[in-house]
Amino acid sequence: MKKLIILCIIIILIIAVGSLLSTQVYSSEKETIKVGYIEYYNIIKDIDSVDKKGYGYDVFNEIDNYMNYTFEFIPYTYEEGIEKLRSGEIDLFAPVTYTEERANEFIYTTEEFAVEKILVTVDDGFSTLYDDEELMNGKKVFTVSYSGYIDLFEDYLERKNIKMEYIYSDKDEVEPILGDYYLTSSLNYIDNLKTTAVVGEINSYVIAGKENTELIKEIDNALQRAKEENPMLLYSLHDKYYQDSKLAQKDFTKEHIAYALEYDGNDFIEVAVNIDQKPISYINEEGYPDGIAVKSIELLAETYGFKIQYLMYNVNTNSSEEIAEIYNISDIILSQTRDLDLKQEKFSVSDSYASIGMMTIMTDATMERNQLTNELVGKIGMLNYDTFDIEQVEEYYNKFELEIFENMDEMIKKYNKDELQAIIVSEAEANQILEETSLRNTQLYSTPIEIPIRLFVNKNFGETYLEVYNIMIDRVGQAAFREIEIEEVEGFTVSMSISRLIREYTPEVILVIITLILIIYYYRNKRKKKLIKQASIDKVTGLDSLLIFYQKFDQLLKKSKENEYIVMTIDIDVFKIIKETYGNEKVSNIIKNIAEELNKQFGKDNLISRIENDVFVLIMKNEQTELEKKVKKLVDVYILGAKKELPKTYNLSLSVGGYLISDLTVPITKMIDYSSISRVEGKKLYKNTFYLFDEAMKRKYETENEIVSKMKKALEEKEFLVVYQPKINLKILKMQSAEALVRWKEKNEKMIYPDQFIPVFEKNGFITNLDYYVFEEVCRVLNENRNLKMPLVAVNISAITLIEDITPLKMIEILSKYNLKPSNIQIEITESAFVKETDIIKQKFEKLKQLGFSVAIDDFGAGISSLNRLNDLKADVIKIDKGFLDNQDLERGNIIIESIIKMANKLNIKVVTEGVETKEQAELLQKLNCNEAQGYYFEKPISEEQFIKIIEEDKQYKI
Ligand code: C2E
Ligand code: CA
Ligand code: CA
Repeated sequence: MKKLIILCIIIILIIAVGSLLSTQVYSSEKETIKVGYIEYYNIIKDIDSVDKKGYGYDVFNEIDNYMNYTFEFIPYTYEEGIEKLRSGEIDLFAPVTYTEERANEFIYTTEEFAVEKILVTVDDGFSTLYDDEELMNGKKVFTVSYSGYIDLFEDYLERKNIKMEYIYSDKDEVEPILGDYYLTSSLNYIDNLKTTAVVGEINSYVIAGKENTELIKEIDNALQRAKEENPMLLYSLHDKYYQDSKLAQKDFTKEHIAYALEYDGNDFIEVAVNIDQKPISYINEEGYPDGIAVKSIELLAETYGFKIQYLMYNVNTNSSEEIAEIYNISDIILSQTRDLDLKQEKFSVSDSYASIGMMTIMTDATMERNQLTNELVGKIGMLNYDTFDIEQVEEYYNKFELEIFENMDEMIKKYNKDELQAIIVSEAEANQILEETSLRNTQLYSTPIEIPIRLFVNKNFGETYLEVYNIMIDRVGQAAFREIEIEEVEGFTVSMSISRLIREYTPEVILVIITLILIIYYYRNKRKKKLIKQASIDKVTGLDSLLIFYQKFDQLLKKSKENEYIVMTIDIDVFKIIKETYGNEKVSNIIKNIAEELNKQFGKDNLISRIENDVFVLIMKNEQTELEKKVKKLVDVYILGAKKELPKTYNLSLSVGGYLISDLTVPITKMIDYSSISRVEGKKLYKNTFYLFDEAMKRKYETENEIVSKMKKALEEKEFLVVYQPKINLKILKMQSAEALVRWKEKNEKMIYPDQFIPVFEKNGFITNLDYYVFEEVCRVLNENRNLKMPLVAVNISAITLIEDITPLKMIEILSKYNLKPSNIQIEITESAFVKETDIIKQKFEKLKQLGFSVAIDDFGAGISSLNRLNDLKADVIKIDKGFLDNQDLERGNIIIESIIKMANKLNIKVVTEGVETKEQAELLQKLNCNEAQGYYFEKPISEEQFIKIIEEDKQYKI
């Protein structure tokens, strides 16, 4: 027995050693080829990473199939690599572009090894536009001295008619400073660079010493065969590394920006939403559109500042004519399913921004027959998704026969009749099917199949429109969309992970799991019924949801005459305070009580809903003589409800707005807007007001519209003038600096003052153009009068402009056009800007300071100001708001001014006081050590000529 065991052991040992030897023999048969590569290239990255080891590694891996070598990769700089090749320490070097000089010394493969794009890149902290030639002109471009790109780049510069200064670097890694450019390749591996232009494409090759001609031939041969096998090989590998890199990220071009400006910023983007497509798009518990697609478009809207109006429909219940009608007026469609024909003609498809996972439903029997899902044999059904790539299914279920369905019921029917062995559905559909349909004993499997979610973008607005969306999608980034996706699909994750288990576990486990799933579905089912009810009801108040209200309102209008109804809106004046004092729960109760009372009194004869917070809307019959009584009753009832939870003595003031429906063609939402406008307008004036939308208001809105319609032309035709208001140094009583203020002088018409148009421009974003214009005008004047001792000139920059991506950059660009430095200009930013968009404004503020601008905080003390802000911001100047001087309570005003000045002095911040109109005020400020004064007492805003004259005269003021 013992002998036998020993014998066995010996035999095993012999076998083991033998096999060991044989592998050794085998591996030593393979010659090792040393391949040098340029280290910073994306050629070989992290060898340990599973699927992305680098472009070069992947190519060698491919050609390895046709060669019998072991490749060893060694990183070098270019110079080192060339040296090692000369000395014979390495056999190959790659990737190398072709130059004659190199070809004289080394031998190249004839087959390309890589196809690279040549990119002009820049530090990603530098704001620039894609293809911004003007900005590139005259700048420095870094390139490595051995670069084979130069010729191509020269062509590019010539084509674009720009010049750049080369800085050659001997090192492989160059660190361009902010604003300098860097010529590089799409296969480069550098963080923090972004592409600003694509120069062209270039091939690179593998090289070897002349003695290695045979080896190069072998490589050529292998490359050739690999490319025959897969003609897209180099491209797809290139994209594998390039596509995800920052370098590939698209940026807006000037053309895009111009397009976006052209596109009326006031308009809504009309978005068609299919409300029966969970989790892509649906109606949530509040009755509003929701879902991956809805949240995503809202993310874009929020990021890029456009407004959305939803057009809702249900692909299952609306007729295709109705849907077509909605599509007709839509800019964007969110739906992904089964109505491609309707969309195809008028819409193009965006890049995908998210995706939903697909699941397979199949029976036990099918599963038994096919242990592995991807060996599924038979017929498999799937609904027709608009933008789905069928190849995904073919790849995963490579032995099936696929049948595409337009209709879910039909598909289920076939499946139940066993005419289909399996069906592929989205996670959400799987849930729905299991909730609603009786399927024969069935199991769920997750699959790697994904339906990409894309936007359908109206073709009417041209190619650029689609591009803009694609870039927005690209720039917002996968990560943000992914977050939305996860949030939305969360509800399904339980069944998802379970189904993943199903794939891997035994029938016993599966049985347990199926019971679990059933329980989950049962629970969901219950919840869903509630959901339907809630969608039509405002959760807080139990009133009709806004959606239902709109529908009823629309019905009502169809039967009504002009002037028959009034749209009333009503709310509490400072609801925010109540909210802050009493907290959310109590506030919900208050709103509920208000709704209850309103409903009790008005619910029978009027439509009621809640717009938001405490704002209610009612459609009431218009009986002229009764109007006042009606409003009074409305207010009383509202207060009655509100007071139930508030102290009896609480002093509530309300505002009511009304819009008399005199024109039935006005869209419903606009009618409600009109009513709200008059409510809010009234609020500005008095407490407890009722305002009917009237001619004055209408005129105001029309004026606004008129301003909007004229503004672009006015800018082009130079109708905007810049005037200058001196700021007087209170010690020496001479002009020390000045503020540039804009005026609008229409041809043959009177002057329009900024208070009339600036708020409108700020609303629609046009202010940015105007701010740049004024900035440039000031630069022009400073440049033209260089021979004089020009004061520091302050330019007002609106928060809207400041937030713009390109703002400081654009200013630098203008300054350099006039040969000026940031220190020649002061930027005035109103204090209120820091309250609203705190972080970004602060960032821009810092950036301006860093660039060398002098920065002033304007209107200090006008809003919710805090002395802390002074400490926090390190401004150069603060301008005390003129309000302090007209203050009735002079004593108090003085104390405040005095303390601001003291604090500012301590922090080394200059103080300017605005609106100085009298001798007394000037004297007081002088006494309080205020540095400068600006106001009518010294000088009104004056023309450019007068301004220059004062400088020339070195005018002396007196108090
Ligand atoms: P602001 O920046 O506070 O400018 C001071 C305003 O006070 C100017 O009004 C000026 O004419 C006026 N003012 C000067 N001295 C006195 C005085 O002694 N008494 C009184 N009562 N007022 C005085 P203006 O020019 O009508 O400008 C109004 C506002 O419009 C400015 O307030 C500024 O916020 C905005 N604005 C003017 N030009 C521009 C511009 O180019 N860009 C931007 N974004 N905003 C501008
Ligand atoms: Ca100002
Ligand atoms: Ca001011």
